[in-house]
Amino acid sequence: MIIAVKSTRGKNEPAAVFGREAVDYMKTPVCELCAKSGEMCKPCNKLVAEGKISKLDATISHALYAINEKRNISGAGFVRSVELDHLIVIFTDTDPGILIGKGGAVSKELTVILGKKIRIAQSSADPKRSIEDIIAPVPLLGINKMYSSGNEYLKVRLPRGYERTLPLDPGSLQKLSTALLGMQTTVVFE
Ligand SMILES: [Zn+2]
Repeated sequence: MIIAVKSTRGKNEPAAVFGREAVDYMKTPVCELCAKSGEMCKPCNKLVAEGKISKLDATISHALYAINEKRNISGAGFVRSVELDHLIVIFTDTDPGILIGKGGAVSKELTVILGKKIRIAQSSADPKRSIEDIIAPVPLLGINKMYSSGNEYLKVRLPRGYERTLPLDPGSLQKLSTALLGMQTTVVFE
């Protein structure tokens, strides 16, 4: 969920332009005030309580505003994050290059602040595409709905022989897929 916030940018402060239309504010899951201050207002707290956003989303929003003070990343659109054992995946709906930064400078700063490796991924309304983006260059064979003793689950199917090419361990991919697809997921190489 994205809350659009009105910019408090002054008239004389230029909006950032990233080879695309000028963006006046950074999009984050928490409101601009919370992202700036690192505090949590009532509506944003409610979103956390309802599980619509996570505390990590709030922490990342604040980190991005702090980084924006030094490097201009106003054009970034931060949608959500998924925390794995050794990795945080940050989904963006604008050019992932903004949050990666020149030579990876922005993701490196995020790694220092958050204490975990960062992967920036393109957010998509279709979670299958997000998964494809994250496992690249490993091709996704398909996602199938399975039934086992009355329970539904999803099987993310990857080709055998790509076990070592997968950019994250299968356990992390399973966690990530479960978060993105909203249903218990298993990862199989076949
Ligand atoms: Zn707020």
